[in-house]
Amino acid sequence: MALLDGVTGSGKTQIFFETVAATLRAKKQALILLPEIALTHSFLDRFTARFGTRPAEWHSDMTPAQRAKVWRAVLLGEVQAVVGARSALFLPFSQLGLIVLDEEHDGAFKQSDGVNYHARDMAIVRASLAKAHVILSSATPSVESRNNANQGRYAHVWVKERHGNAKLPQIKAIDMREAGPEKGSWIAPELAREVFATIDRGEQALLFLNRRGYAPLTLCKECGHQYQCDDCAAWLVEHRFRGVLVCHYCGRETPRPTTCGACGVEDALVPIGPGIERIAEEAAVRFPDARRVILSSDMGSNAQLRQRFKEIAAGDYDLIIGTQLVAKGHHFEKLTLVGVLDADLGLAHGDPRAAEKTFQLLTQVTGRAGRAAKSGRGYLQTYHPDHPVIKAMISGDREGFYAHELKIRNEGGLPPFGRLAALIISANEHGVALNHARHLLQKAPKSDGLKLFGPADAPVAMVRGRHRVRLLVQSARGFDLSGYVRFWLEGADKPKGNLQVRVDIDPVSFY
Ligand SMILES: [Zn+2]
Ligand SMILES: [Zn+2]
Repeated sequence: MALLDGVTGSGKTQIFFETVAATLRAKKQALILLPEIALTHSFLDRFTARFGTRPAEWHSDMTPAQRAKVWRAVLLGEVQAVVGARSALFLPFSQLGLIVLDEEHDGAFKQSDGVNYHARDMAIVRASLAKAHVILSSATPSVESRNNANQGRYAHVWVKERHGNAKLPQIKAIDMREAGPEKGSWIAPELAREVFATIDRGEQALLFLNRRGYAPLTLCKECGHQYQCDDCAAWLVEHRFRGVLVCHYCGRETPRPTTCGACGVEDALVPIGPGIERIAEEAAVRFPDARRVILSSDMGSNAQLRQRFKEIAAGDYDLIIGTQLVAKGHHFEKLTLVGVLDADLGLAHGDPRAAEKTFQLLTQVTGRAGRAAKSGRGYLQTYHPDHPVIKAMISGDREGFYAHELKIRNEGGLPPFGRLAALIISANEHGVALNHARHLLQKAPKSDGLKLFGPADAPVAMVRGRHRVRLLVQSARGFDLSGYVRFWLEGADKPKGNLQVRVDIDPVSFY
C-alpha cells in the first residue's frame, strides 16, 4: 500500500503507469479508479499512448450490452487493464495485481446513497483478498491518508516538484475589504488587469467560481420576498441561461416569474450574489474580444463537455469561466492564470472537513496554471486573508496545512483520530422526526468514550418536503461504530409511516 503524494503537475500518472506496466508484464490485472471517468477522455488517450492499447472502461455512461461484455472479459482474464468509476471495484477480477485510486481525496469515491461505502476502504479490502497492491495518488491527499502515511501504515512516495522545468504557481490573495471589485462587479481590478495581460501574451486565463447558475438568491426589491423552494429549506437559484429558478437540493424548477409572487409588483425581482453564469455575463462585457467558454456541469452533456475540454487544450479559447468541473485533473498547456472569485465559499459550513475540502479545491484549481513552460499565477479573492487555509495557499506551505489540520483533528477527536456517524431522522412533520430522534437518544447504549450530539435540525433542515433532524455520534478510532449503531437501532422502536432513519458512517458530506 502506497500513497503517491505529489504536487499538481508532478507527473504522478507517469509514475503509477510504471507500476501498471510491471503488473501487466507479470500477467496480472490492473484497475485504475478515477472520480470523473465520464469526463476524463484525455486520461484514456494517455493510457493508450503509453501502452499501445486502449483499456476497458467501466462507468455509468455505458449501455448494458457494453457492461456485460466488459464483465465477461474481466472474469475470463481477457482484459488486463480497466479504467473505471468506483463501482468497477465489484468486477470479477480473476488475476488482480494492482488497484490505483487516482485523485484519492475526491468526494466522488464515497457512496452515500443506499449502500454506504468508501472506494478507498473497499479497494484496500479487495486488494488484500487478492494479495494485490494499492496505490493512492493525489496532489492533495485526504487528511486520513496523510495520517496513515505519517504513521508508517502506507509507504509514502513524495514528489515535491513539478515535472520538467515547470514551477508551482505563485498564489496571491486579493483582500476584498480593501481591493475588492467595484459595485455591481465581481472581478477585482487587479485580477481584471491580469486577465488582460495574460490574454495579450497569447496565454489562457481561468475565472473560477464554484457555484452553478446565475444568482444564488432572488429577492423582490419592493417587499423583500425571497424565493425559496416549497419543499426544501433552500433558496431557489436562478439559471438565467435556461430562464428558470432551480432548487439545488430537490431539482424542482419553475420559470423565472416577471411579477413578484408576494406583492404582485412587476419587474421588481433582483438577483443577489453571483453564480458562474453571472461571471460569464460580466466577462462578456469586460473582455469582449476574448474567445470565451463557460463550463459548468449543467451546461451540456458529457460528450459536449468532453469536446469543450479538447478545444481548451487545443488553445481555441482565451478565457475559461468555470465551476469545479475545470478544477479536476485537466492539463491545459497555455493556461497560466487562475482567478478564484470567492475563495471563502467552502469555509462557512459547519462541516469538520470544510478546511480540508477548501484547501484541496483551491490547490487543485490554482494547480491548473503554469503546468508547461510558462510560469503560472493564482489569485484568491477573499474576505479572510488570515484564515489558515488561505495563508497556507499563499505561502505554499502544504506541509504546514496538513500538520495544523491533523493537530486540530487530534485535539477534537475527529477523523482520522476518532470516528463519526450521522443519523438523519426525517419525516413529513418536524415534531415526528424530533420525537423519534429523542427516543433514539434515550435508547442509545452507554459506552466508554462515546459521545452523542443532538438532536438538532440538520444543516439543511428540509429536503423534498421532509423535515430533517440529526444525531451525531463520535467514538474512538478503533471502535466498531457500524456494529454499535446496528445494535442501537435494533433495540429501539422501528420507524413507522413516513418516518425514516438514514445512517452515514464516516460521513464525507454534512448537510
Ligand atoms: Zn427543493
Ligand atoms: Zn414583492
